[in-house]
Amino acid sequence: MKKIEIDGLAFELLISSQEISNKVNVLAKRLIAQYQDNWPLCLIVLNGAAVFATDLLKRIGSSCEISVVKAHSYDGLTSTENVTIEYLAYDLIKDRDILLIEDIVDSGLTMTVIKQELLKHGAKNVQCITLLFKPNAYQYDTQPDYIGFVIGNEFVVGYGMDFNEKGRNLASIYKNTLDQN
Ligand code: 5GP
Repeated sequence: MKKIEIDGLAFELLISSQEISNKVNVLAKRLIAQYQDNWPLCLIVLNGAAVFATDLLKRIGSSCEISVVKAHSYDGLTSTENVTIEYLAYDLIKDRDILLIEDIVDSGLTMTVIKQELLKHGAKNVQCITLLFKPNAYQYDTQPDYIGFVIGNEFVVGYGMDFNEKGRNLASIYKNTLDQN
């Protein structure tokens, strides 16, 4: 499927499910090489990273601890200035090494706010893996530690990412055809 429409908005294929699968394999191998038998607490940023994290963590082989953080920053097509943390298991954080699993890092605000919150509550070290990274939109100095694909400023859906809560189930990633890079 090369083109789709969600709520009247047109999207075209950006990254196929096969390309995603290959990349997830590469990322899993990097994490295995990095953490070996000493896995951090894996914290999945909901809702968007649920699909990526599930695929990634299944490839890891050894047992690791998983929890979720629910944050909200996007409104329709646009990033908002405010990030709300709706859920975080605060009792798990203290003195822990943490790997934050993101679907997409855009301005970087969500990742930064969650990192600050974790460190404020006693996390020892926080790293971040993201499937997608938008360097042209990014507004901070420290980039995510592990990046799957670098993309332009297009708005994307699929593989966990939504438009108006729709499209998360799509196996490939699609970009809004109106976006210019
Ligand atoms: P940031 O705080 O980095 O600006 O945005 C991060 C969050 O905004 C992501 O976790 C994701 O939920 C959402 N987001 C950013 N860019 C996109 C996009 O292109 N498509 C979708 N569906 N969500 C996005």
